[in-house]
Amino acid sequence: MGDSLVGQDTRAREPSGQKHDVRHTTCVIAGSGPAGAMLGLLLARRGVDVLVLEKHADFLRDFRGDTIHPSTMEIMDELGLADPLLNLPHTKTSRLRFRTPRGSATLADFGHLKTRFPYLAFMPQWDFLDFVTDEARRYPNFELEMNAEVRELVEEGGLVRGVRYETPDGTREARALLTVAADGRDSRLREQAGLRVVGTAPPIDVLWFRISRRKGDPEEPTGYIGGGRFVVLINRGDYWQVGYVLPKGADRRIRAAGLESFRRSVGEAVPEVADRTDEIQDWGQVKLLSVQVNRLRRWFRPGLLCIGDAAHAMSPVGGVGINLAIQDAVAAANVLAEPLRAGRVELRHLRAVQRRRELPIRILQGLQSLAHRRIVAPAVGGGGLPSPPPPVRALLGLRIVRNLPARIIGFGIWPVHVRP
Ligand SMILES: Cc1cc2nc3c(=O)[nH]c(=O)nc-3n(C[C@H](O)[C@H](O)[C@H](O)COP(=O)(O)OP(=O)(O)OC[C@H]3O[C@@H](n4cnc5c(N)ncnc54)[C@H](O)[C@@H]3O)c2cc1C
Repeated sequence: MGDSLVGQDTRAREPSGQKHDVRHTTCVIAGSGPAGAMLGLLLARRGVDVLVLEKHADFLRDFRGDTIHPSTMEIMDELGLADPLLNLPHTKTSRLRFRTPRGSATLADFGHLKTRFPYLAFMPQWDFLDFVTDEARRYPNFELEMNAEVRELVEEGGLVRGVRYETPDGTREARALLTVAADGRDSRLREQAGLRVVGTAPPIDVLWFRISRRKGDPEEPTGYIGGGRFVVLINRGDYWQVGYVLPKGADRRIRAAGLESFRRSVGEAVPEVADRTDEIQDWGQVKLLSVQVNRLRRWFRPGLLCIGDAAHAMSPVGGVGINLAIQDAVAAANVLAEPLRAGRVELRHLRAVQRRRELPIRILQGLQSLAHRRIVAPAVGGGGLPSPPPPVRALLGLRIVRNLPARIIGFGIWPVHVRP
């Protein structure tokens, strides 16, 4: 199928009441993470019937990143939701810092950004997702089905017509003009659709765990680099979310060396928490994040579009994954709301979404790979932070260059705005 019609609303044509329930909607979204939930809200407010399917019963999950960046805050503001969102408990930081044995430095200072929201807000992702989906539920054409695990695509003649999914009450089918895969970095739908993934092999992994925060602890999220270690502490109110970066595949060696050795290593890297590393009682508390950086060559097929991590898994460097997933949702809603309402989504619309989003993502992935190779891998390989040559140091001294990390982390390569 070329650039012609991708699909039409099949409601009138589909036989119903077969082996399992068949539901009809205009857009079915697999996954209610930041990308899926946001796209659901944006389409619903533009008058599109939308069904979001989420495999979990709630949004309470292990740590998956809690950052809300200036660009997301601006998007929420455009929706009139920034102030209610900020009424939820959160912490803020206007700087990201790192410490080395030679002293400390600022990686990104958001205070210079020209925005109403010159900071990173930290809010548990489940609170953010509850907020977005509660807001979406105010639109009668929005529906969120929890405990609904998407199993397979429904295809007819090479066209994706919807999905088959499992619920506690049995198998169901949702048929739609457009299916959106927002089911994360291990997306089942993108695999089933046969979409090709291209990726790099990042040289690092991350171990995540918690350590309590105490009175007098610093407030700002900080990276500690030194002695062959790179450890990041993120303030989550009454505890630190700790990311312990390690060379790819070193997880087994670290676990084999035993908990005591790991606790010691954490304490040596971050002396401020050395007195409480015994809170790490067993390896079950320590989760491995296998760092992936990849993207789809083509984000779509007739009737199907992938967004968020399903289209491009990012490295945790810069903590930009949520931000980008939300920008994808905004770009997709801007392009697709009208065609969906008109019942005609063509391949050129799906291609337009990819075209708008692909370049900024490729640039960011390139920058992340550079950071892996030049900063993170040497730091965990024992080399410490490399000293840049004098011309690079001079360049880094320029204000415009110094402000770049905050701009890129805060807004991405270029901002995306909600179409009024
Ligand atoms: C440990 C960790 C730390 C991170 N830290 C940060 C950070 O600080 N800042 C940041 O910006 N990003 C961070 N990220 C990345 C960020 O969480 C992701 O980039 C972002 O959540 C992507 O959003 P998404 O909606 O595309 O996918 P996801 O958030 O992965 O959401 C996918 C959703 O789909 C659901 N789902 C999956 N399969 C199915 C199915 N078959 N049927 C139905 N539902 C399904 C999942 O349950 C989930 O709710 C981190 C990630 C990890 C793992």
